[in-house]
Parts: sequence; C-alpha cells; structure tokens
Amino acid sequence: MGRQLMTGMSGRSEDARIPGVVDDLAGFPGVAPLGHVLSRREFLRMLEVLGRFAGSRRQLVLLLMDVSHFDWVNDAFGLEAGDHVLAVLAEAVRRVAGAASVVGRLDGDQFGILAFVESESAALDIAGEILAVVRAPLAVDGELIHLKARVGICPYVLHDDPKAATLRYAGAALSEAKCRDADEPVFSSPADRQVVERRVSTYRSLHRALQARELRIAYQPVVNLRSGHAEGVEALLRWRTRHGLQIGPEEIVPVAEDTGLIGPLGQWVLDEALSTAAARSAAVGMPILVAVNLSARQFGDPGLVAAVARTLARRHVPPSQLAIEVTESLAVDETRAARIFAELQALGCRVGLDDFGTGQSCLSYLRSLPIDFIKIDRSFVVELDRDLRARRLVQTIVALARDLGLVTVAEGVETEPQRLAAAEAGCLYGQGYLFGRPELEA
Ligand code: C2E
Ligand code: MG
Ligand code: MG
Repeated sequence: MGRQLMTGMSGRSEDARIPGVVDDLAGFPGVAPLGHVLSRREFLRMLEVLGRFAGSRRQLVLLLMDVSHFDWVNDAFGLEAGDHVLAVLAEAVRRVAGAASVVGRLDGDQFGILAFVESESAALDIAGEILAVVRAPLAVDGELIHLKARVGICPYVLHDDPKAATLRYAGAALSEAKCRDADEPVFSSPADRQVVERRVSTYRSLHRALQARELRIAYQPVVNLRSGHAEGVEALLRWRTRHGLQIGPEEIVPVAEDTGLIGPLGQWVLDEALSTAAARSAAVGMPILVAVNLSARQFGDPGLVAAVARTLARRHVPPSQLAIEVTESLAVDETRAARIFAELQALGCRVGLDDFGTGQSCLSYLRSLPIDFIKIDRSFVVELDRDLRARRLVQTIVALARDLGLVTVAEGVETEPQRLAAAEAGCLYGQGYLFGRPELEA
C-alpha cells in the first residue's frame, strides 16, 4: 500500500510492570496463547472463562477502550492505513497491559482488556498507561497523527448473568467517559451500576407497560394570567408499575429515546391526550386546548406529521386545539425541526419551545424555527419574586417574544408573588402548583 507506518514515541517496554497487577495469566486454565489480540468471540469466551476465577484472590476487571474520532483516520488516510493503525495500537495496548491481561478487538475501533488486579487503583493505572500509549503520536504516510481514546472500567460483577452485566456496566462507564470527553478513565461505581440496572429494567417493563395500560397521563392547567381562567392543559406522562412503583417522565423518556420506544410511546401519549381533550371539550361545551410534549428524537420519524394529522382526525379534535412542546435544551437538527414545525403549523397546530432559556441555542432557535409560543423555564420563574436580575431577564424574554409575535407561558408558578411578577413582566399564561398540580383523569 506504499504507506509507511510505525509507532512513534509510544515505545513502552514489554516488561513495564504496573504495581498491584498480577504478573502472569499463563497459569489460568483456558487462557489462550497470549501475545495476540483476540477476536470479539474469543474475547467474550475469555471473559466467561476468567470470570470463574474472579474475586478468588484478585479482582478481574474489564476495560473497554474506544479510539475517539477514528473515522477521520480512515477518511484521511484510507481504510487500509486505518486498519494498520488499529493493529499497531492493539499491539501497543497489549504490551502496556502486559502478560497479566487479555486484549481483544471488539468492534471497529473498540478494544476490551481483561486483567486481574489487586485494587481499583491498579486498574486505573493500566487505563492511564493505555490512554498514554494511544496519545503518543503515530507516523502514518510520513505524517504524525495524534489519537486519543476513552476508557470505561468495571470489575467482574456478581449477577445472574455476570458476563452480560459486566459488559453492560463497562459500556456505560465508557459512554460516561466519552460524555465527559476528558483524558481520564471512568470506573463504574456500585451507584452507576444501579442506574444502569434501573434503566434496563425500565426498558424491559416499558414494552409491557405500553400494552398493559400501566401508563397514564396527568393533566395540569394552563391559566390565563389576566383572566385567571384555565384555557388549556398540559399532558404529562405518568407510570405506576404493577409493583406499585411510580416512575416519572424524566426517567422514562431518556430510556424510550435511547431504545427507539419513543415513537410508540409518543404516539400513545398523543392519542390519549387528544381523546381526553375531545371528551372534556364535549363535557364543558367549549374547546379545551391540550399541550403535548414531543421528544426531538421523534423528528427522525418521517411519518410524524402524518401520524399527528391522522390522530387528530380519529379523535375528532380540530388541530387548533393541539399545542406541541419541544424542549429547547435538546440538540436538534434545526433545518429538519424547522420543516416539521412548519408542517405542524400548516396542519393548524401550535408549536412552541419548552423550558426556554435553559439550552444553549435559545436565540438561534428563535431565529430559525417557526414557533407560536415559548414556555419560560421554571428556574427563572422561581427567582422572579426575589431576584431583580431574574425579573429583568423574564421581562426581556417576554418583550423579545412579544416583538416576534410569540405567546409566553411562565412555568412552575408556585406562589402568589411569582404569579404577580410573571403577570407584571407581561407573561400571558402561567402554569404551576399555584393553579393546580398535574392530576390523573378520574
Ligand atoms: P415539562 O414539559 O417542562 O413539564 C413541566 C414539569 O414541571 C412537569 O414535571 C410538572 O409536573 C412540573 N411542574 C409543574 N408545575 C410545577 C411547579 O409549580 N413546581 C414544580 N417544582 N414543578 C412543576 P414532570 O411531569 O415530571 O415532567 C418532566 C418533563 O418530562 C416534562 O417537563 C417534559 O419535558 C417531559 N415529559 C413529560 N411527559 C412527556 C411526554 O409525554 N413525552 C415527552 N417526550 N416528554 C414528556
Ligand atoms: Mg412541557
Ligand atoms: Mg418545561
């Protein structure tokens, strides 16, 4: 391939020993010939085999390493060179991890390392060495390239399915390391593992909950601050599991977003909210406006707007009675969001930004997205009656919104002084415990 490729300054010696790490794995039954990088299958098998000895005298740890932005290397130097760089890295990692470890290539630019250690800090030392070896410049095609990696670590855990659980927790630690984007490994703590377990069990039962009608919607009034009358409600997701556990939307929605369940879940909420709006409007003899939260992840569904139109028609609700709220802090593809917002508006629905002021792009969104209303985040409203700066901020947001022809809603109004301050600032609507808590349908 005519490329010159060699390790740069990463020349760590084979016998670099990390204190606290077991010297050699050779004595363990089933350990494959060391000195080469295992395939994914071999590595997973090894995890199972070594797991049998975990915790006997030393702790078995799994390190997951992901080379960051590796696609750039492939794009810039070609796939063959990319493969070669990975092979060189794998070998360097294997040398650093030493004879007391097993290294496998799990997937593209992801590697797994299994090591027996005497302490958590010894595992962190290995990870630190690995990060350093990846950081060392590599010569490719006569050019020095600089790579970095992220590492998540988990001890081999006691569990019904220890292999899968260990991989899951190490994966979560790796995701956290990527999220922090710092050159430090993340070690999975018992608390982290509990969070992962809860997410997994939420995911497992969410499927069933959708079918078993364990999900409910609570409705919270949205009040006109001038007249004091409720003119609409916001639909908020609730879940009481069959074991009596209450799980809030802040826990459900991220799991649903990560697992693709957000589509059916969002559709269920919309259908349910519109059916309630239809029933309540008929009962009181006037149209009840209903606001439904939409996850920006749902924008990925090309059939979204058509599904909204179908649901409105099926429930015989005029589109003008539906408001769609999208959280402002979510990173969205602005061009796609703008198109979807415009299509929803063309149907006759209102669209708005939720939690306004908390994200990084609120001004940009005001410019690029066609919207009808903004909901000023509760964190500003809470301070309204005691902080002059918060009051000035809300006044400025309301003035800006008014100039742009947008309706404003103050979220989280809990006290009379907050209501007064919100009304004085010019907010048209308010929502919060002062007017009513979210309530399930009787
Ligand atoms: P949000 O849309 O900003 O909804 C307002 C949240 O503030 C609700 O929390 C509500 O119960 C709470 N709240 C209302 N008034 C007050 C108040 O006076 N004081 C305080 N401290 N809190 C108040 P909830 O129901 O836990 O919902 C949290 C978030 O979850 C929602 O924030 C929304 O972003 C999301 N969410 C809820 N339901 C759905 C849904 O069906 N789909 C999607 N994608 N997201 C949803
Ligand atoms: Mg909302
Ligand atoms: Mg909000």
